[in-house]
Amino acid sequence: MTAIAPLRRNSRLTIKQGTVGLCIIFSCVLLHRASCLDGWWREIVVAGPSMAPTLWGPTHQFSCTACGLPNRYHGRSARIHAPCWHCGVAQTPSSPRAVPADRVTIDRAAYRWQLCGIPLTQAAPQRGDWVAVLVADQLRVKRVLGVPGDRVAVRGGELLRGGELALGGELLINDRPVRESLPGPIPTCLVHSATLSSRREFPATAEPTARHRWQAIATEGTVSADNRQGSPANWWVYHHFSVHDRRSDCVRDDYACNVDVRRALHPVDRLVVRLEVDFRSATTLDVWFWHPAGSRHVRRHCLAGQQSIRLISSDATTSRQSPAVTVDARRPVAVAGLPSTGAAEPKITIERELYWFVEAADRQRWPSASTELAADRYFIAGDNQAISVDSRSDPAGVHRDQIIGKVKRRW
Ligand SMILES: [Zn+2]
Repeated sequence: MTAIAPLRRNSRLTIKQGTVGLCIIFSCVLLHRASCLDGWWREIVVAGPSMAPTLWGPTHQFSCTACGLPNRYHGRSARIHAPCWHCGVAQTPSSPRAVPADRVTIDRAAYRWQLCGIPLTQAAPQRGDWVAVLVADQLRVKRVLGVPGDRVAVRGGELLRGGELALGGELLINDRPVRESLPGPIPTCLVHSATLSSRREFPATAEPTARHRWQAIATEGTVSADNRQGSPANWWVYHHFSVHDRRSDCVRDDYACNVDVRRALHPVDRLVVRLEVDFRSATTLDVWFWHPAGSRHVRRHCLAGQQSIRLISSDATTSRQSPAVTVDARRPVAVAGLPSTGAAEPKITIERELYWFVEAADRQRWPSASTELAADRYFIAGDNQAISVDSRSDPAGVHRDQIIGKVKRRW
């Protein structure tokens, strides 16, 4: 008996010591993991506009004095001289509201976590990830578009504008537009937003302006007829007008928040229509999208009441039937089935999907054929591709060691 008692005491002591030791080790590991997450204790904010509209740097916002819709511009300066993106009315707002930049966290252990030289986790950056990249001693946030083994190439780019400036070509990943190889959801860029009113239509013979871009057309009869009462369908046709360079032609990769940016604008055709509309009764909505390979049609049956509807041109089907109204590059969207009278006028917003183009100057650095990313190379780019400096100027991509960590927006 006397021999057993001390052994039991030692066992209890050993178990207790072991438990405490494990707890200490576990706490140290947790503390080390938490220390790899930058942005919780000290604030990290986005400094520039290259990832907009996914992540915003410091911006200013004001409500247009003419149409009342919000405008948001990059820049720390409160002095903004810009036309309203929605209606084109030039203004210098006296007190634009400063909107703080997005706060982010950088997880330095997301892809490689080591503790005292012991690798604990190992993961590769994936397409679509937002990453913090060290480029020329500066930390930047970019999106991963291509991973090792992916083929990157440029399509098109031989077009000449005005006989001098060559437009760049669209970036392809594994022979597909970048958008199709990224996991969703991907944000869209604003093209135009308006509240439709028959007072704002412009005559069929007139050119669209920054303010008047929607034309009401009746397939037969008069425009004022209401299709809810069995009268002919009224079509609303969108005519594009660029606020930045005051061109009345196709939709390009223009971007509302990029003020005074010198850029070559590329034609784009993947559009999104958002509708906020109050139907008095069940209605059939018809939308035609122009597309170079043939116009596309969407039909949506809507219930009575307030509806938020989102339609994407890439989801629309190519139709054998001809559009009821003319849609082309300059008039890329036509909508029928909207109530033409009523207390709440429908709000309609045209957006475009994100595109990544390789500018003509950068294209000289590209090989003529597609190039495969090496085992430790990643192709990165900013979502605001018109102004982002990224792998499009160096198609070999960035080295894995330049990727410091994974970025997430902090709410
Ligand atoms: Zn306006």
